[in-house]
Amino acid sequence: MVQSSVLGFPRIGPFRELKKTTEAYWSGKATVEELFKVGKELREKNWKLQKEAGVDIIPSNDFSFYDHVLDHSLLFNVIPERYSKYELAPIDTFFAMGRGLQRAATDSAPAVDVPATEMVKWFDSNYHYVRPTFSKNVQFKLNGTKPIDEFLEAKALGIHTRPVLVGPVSYLFLGKADKDNLDLEPITLLDQLLPVYAELLAKLKEAGADSVQIDEPVLVLDLPTEVQAAYKKAYEFLVSETAPKLFLTSYFGDVRPNIESIKGLPVAGFHADFVRVPEQLDAVVGALSSTQILSVGIVNGRNIWKANLSKAIEFVKTAIEKVGAERVVVATSSSLLHTPVTLANEKKISAEIKDWFAFATEKVTEVVVIAKAVTDGVDSVADILAANTASIAARESSSITNDPAVRERVSKITEEMTHRKSPFAARLAAQKAHLDIPAFPTTTIGSFPQTKDIRIVRNKFTKGEISAEEYEKFIEKEIASVVKFQEEVGLDVLVHGEPERNDMVQYFGEKFNGYVFTSNGWVQSYGSRYVRPPIIVGDVSRPGPITVKESKYAQSITKKPMKGMLTGPVTCLRWSFPRDDISNKIQAQQLALALLDEVQDLEAAGVYVIQVDEPAIREGLPLRAGAERDDYVKWAVESFRLATSGVEDKTQIHSHFCYSDLDPNHIKALDADVVSIEFSKKDDPNYIQEFSEYPNHIGLGLFDIHSPRVPPKEEFVARINEILKVYPKENLWINPDCGLKTRGWTETRAALQNMVDAAKEFRAKY
Ligand code: GLN
Ligand code: ZN
Repeated sequence: MVQSSVLGFPRIGPFRELKKTTEAYWSGKATVEELFKVGKELREKNWKLQKEAGVDIIPSNDFSFYDHVLDHSLLFNVIPERYSKYELAPIDTFFAMGRGLQRAATDSAPAVDVPATEMVKWFDSNYHYVRPTFSKNVQFKLNGTKPIDEFLEAKALGIHTRPVLVGPVSYLFLGKADKDNLDLEPITLLDQLLPVYAELLAKLKEAGADSVQIDEPVLVLDLPTEVQAAYKKAYEFLVSETAPKLFLTSYFGDVRPNIESIKGLPVAGFHADFVRVPEQLDAVVGALSSTQILSVGIVNGRNIWKANLSKAIEFVKTAIEKVGAERVVVATSSSLLHTPVTLANEKKISAEIKDWFAFATEKVTEVVVIAKAVTDGVDSVADILAANTASIAARESSSITNDPAVRERVSKITEEMTHRKSPFAARLAAQKAHLDIPAFPTTTIGSFPQTKDIRIVRNKFTKGEISAEEYEKFIEKEIASVVKFQEEVGLDVLVHGEPERNDMVQYFGEKFNGYVFTSNGWVQSYGSRYVRPPIIVGDVSRPGPITVKESKYAQSITKKPMKGMLTGPVTCLRWSFPRDDISNKIQAQQLALALLDEVQDLEAAGVYVIQVDEPAIREGLPLRAGAERDDYVKWAVESFRLATSGVEDKTQIHSHFCYSDLDPNHIKALDADVVSIEFSKKDDPNYIQEFSEYPNHIGLGLFDIHSPRVPPKEEFVARINEILKVYPKENLWINPDCGLKTRGWTETRAALQNMVDAAKEFRAKY
């Protein structure tokens, strides 16, 4: 019998129960008992759901109150002294590491003030994990029993689970040295860490676990040789009589470059992601011994599309031909953490489109169906397969997915369309001739504080409680006041403030053809922050102008240049669930053409400075160096240029980036006239140098928009002086790190005033 296996299930609950309870706990509105109770209910619900669906191998310890990697840090006592010194309850230390903690002193406890640990993207997903941070005096020890407790909790419900752990090599490699210990290479801690894993495994076995899923996702990255070599050492140490069977799990990519690290390991089985890389089947099979299990990741854990069941069944059959049915398991490609919980609560999406989707709950069933088909024959699931085939065919031929006009337009994209008319120097001259922009020009990144007021009115409009006219009046009033504010402060290039936008991608998605939106399709981004990515279902086009009215109005009420504000094609794609039936490149091209129309309409309306934000361009970069990565860079850059090149020289194109370490070469390739980059928190002195050769104009973010802190003018002056050591003064813009949407007005005014005053000082001096 071929078994079915799920590698992990979303923990947030169908209605964001986890967010509600953790945030209530943080604000003192729920007790720790209430918090734990909700956690327990969510786990129970998830296990039962999988059991009832017929899953054979159900995960446990995939739950977390914040982040599963952080769970491991607590479990192994990887807690820097700045957190442990407060001797908080374990759950509070856990949250303090995840999100920082600031608490006034009480009679019984001293004040607490500690920032969060670094958080980074989990591979190429939009999930963020809390980075293990190894300080000098790290003392590994088993500091808790979470995996054992959760295994027993399921057992008490009559559900036998497979606990999930992050493997020791990945845990170390994904971590970093703490500030007090910068020379440390975390992988050198392996010998000290392994006995703690062994102890944990022994306890799991005692509790009744016969197998453990041990995640080693770094196997899909470019690994240094010492990390490749660590696998043999780690797994020869961990596989023993006292440990449950170990199933080594990779996902999100290609293990072939590290295949030698897997060969010969004494583990019971190996999982690979064959949705992403079906071509790795032979290599993976070749690396296994004649008794090792092959877990075939074939239901996509990263998207929302129904699997093509017949194709998946064929693939599993191929695997069976190679290794025999008794050695094959059918699995999700990765944990389902990255997909929304269930389709059941989506009432607004049309039945036709909904039939194309599978969220986590529906994917669980797919895994079961595929396993049944290869065990009992396809006839045993004939009805389900027939419905699946019909649904796939309907999507393929639907007029929603296929817009011949869009296809035709994409096919006519030429190289020429991705180049501005003239080189930067000529453009700059044309821009200077008609735009009133002084030296050290000041500007902001787009959004201004989104007060409760704005959200209330927007909600009323969405619900139809106020008319479009009333809403437009309100937005105009907001724009007018933001423009007045910027003139008072003395900014040079103004923005309209984005009061009409809920989210920088959703806003555009709602206006484009080809997108749909869920009501409850939340996915965890980090901690209690969840996102509801829009879904690209069909060919994307722009039925009409999107931002022109607001930008034109804003320009009409000021003499200063007004900056139009758009979200770039790559960011629109990356922060949505993309289609799986056409390439990302083509989707980016479609988005770029739609945005090109908008850019040209803005220009025609007299908006001669246009910013196209691409904060997500870095995160789309494929995990490994090589052809795939080069290809991504090529089409990502081209789609940005396609969207922004169809303007006259005198129109100034800006772009903006945040959240990531960017490669200056990629930014250079975009050929924007001006770029603004999040910068104020970069403590690496080399970072500033990296962009020093940047040929066009640049604004390095001068203050942190995540904090209410107001930097004094002297601080701005000092920062600008630092930057001027590296950059020519003619190239420099003066701006904050990012949009001011989450800030309050008081600190916004004060910070911007100090920034503008500093710029004026430089302007007078040079
Ligand atoms: N223009 C957007 C804003 O200011 C940019 C947001 C972002 O880069 N994340 O809000
Ligand atoms: Zn930003």
